[in-house]
Amino acid sequence: MDDVIVLGAGVIGLTCAVRLLEGGARVRVVTADEPARTVSRLAAAVWYPTRTEADPRVLAWAHETYDELMAQAAAGAPGVAPRPTRMIVRSPAGAPWWSPAVPDFAAHPGEWRFTVPSVEMPVYLPWLADRVRELGGTVTAARVGALTELGGRAATLVNATGLAARVLAGDAAVFPARGQVVGVANPGLVTSVRDEEHPDGMTYVHPRSRDVVLGGTFQPDDWNEAPDLATTEAILRRCAELVPELAGARPLWEAAGLRPARHGGPRVEADPVALPGGTRLVHAYGHGGAGVTLSWGCAAEVARIAQTGH
Ligand SMILES: Cc1cc2nc3c(=O)[nH]c(=O)nc-3n(C[C@H](O)[C@H](O)[C@H](O)COP(=O)(O)OP(=O)(O)OC[C@H]3O[C@@H](n4cnc5c(N)ncnc54)[C@H](O)[C@@H]3O)c2cc1C
Repeated sequence: MDDVIVLGAGVIGLTCAVRLLEGGARVRVVTADEPARTVSRLAAAVWYPTRTEADPRVLAWAHETYDELMAQAAAGAPGVAPRPTRMIVRSPAGAPWWSPAVPDFAAHPGEWRFTVPSVEMPVYLPWLADRVRELGGTVTAARVGALTELGGRAATLVNATGLAARVLAGDAAVFPARGQVVGVANPGLVTSVRDEEHPDGMTYVHPRSRDVVLGGTFQPDDWNEAPDLATTEAILRRCAELVPELAGARPLWEAAGLRPARHGGPRVEADPVALPGGTRLVHAYGHGGAGVTLSWGCAAEVARIAQTGH
């Protein structure tokens, strides 16, 4: 019998598996989709707690993840790099709740400037899955119909199923927040630029090594996973206004994904009720627009809960 089964191989499931394995547990990851087909593959993915409420627990996860990703960037982890950022501030405000996690955060007239880690998910997710295998874990493809199917198969089950937790955990607080993004060729940009309060919709420009991810949308309760043309054109227009070097850029690709959002914030806790066979159930879902940003901090907490039970 495994010590832990982690259900889900998005960024949350894989980081949990790595931390559990590092702690000495025998771990099996079970996933309906290979990592390259999860919602996590679509994350832009820049450290930033998008549309996430202030909460000391969330700040601690964000802080720990910031430090871990910066350390990984310094150690040469694939696709991880520090990213200078400019954020347009439309309504005058004090420093945001997450600023204690960002060492060089600085307020300037009309904008904030800071450096955060950015992650290229198409290379980072396979690297995480390889880390799981190198540490002695396994990744198996299977779709379960109910969490109870895995009762008695391991001492602990970690439920890292993202949006699917709405049904699997019977949690009506979970809802989709649709995001559409567009990729264009990189004309030499290195700085991320954000205008989260743009009156026509959240707007961001995130350069990567080979392209630039342009966004975006945040559409609660919209289940449409297909990108639509009018939205792509609106994103291109807003991003070219924000960063003039993008004028005339044509899409290389476009995509839409459903962020696993949750009223009340992410659920990272032991379920009070064990599964059949006495398997302890630990939930780790509902990270909305901040799954990458909170991943390593949550993974450490899940590993702690799996070990101690609380
Ligand atoms: C356009 C877009 C841009 C984003 N940008 C950012 C960003 O810049 N920064 C950031 O931090 N976050 C960003 N996010 C959010 C981030 O992508 C999510 O928070 C994160 O991917 C959630 O990860 P997860 O592992 O919980 O879920 P997922 O990646 O959805 O993984 C869920 C896993 O559960 C498995 N699963 C589900 N049901 C079953 C079942 N019945 N049986 C077996 N397995 C099952 C799936 O196969 C999958 O492996 C963005 C999201 C989108 C859509």
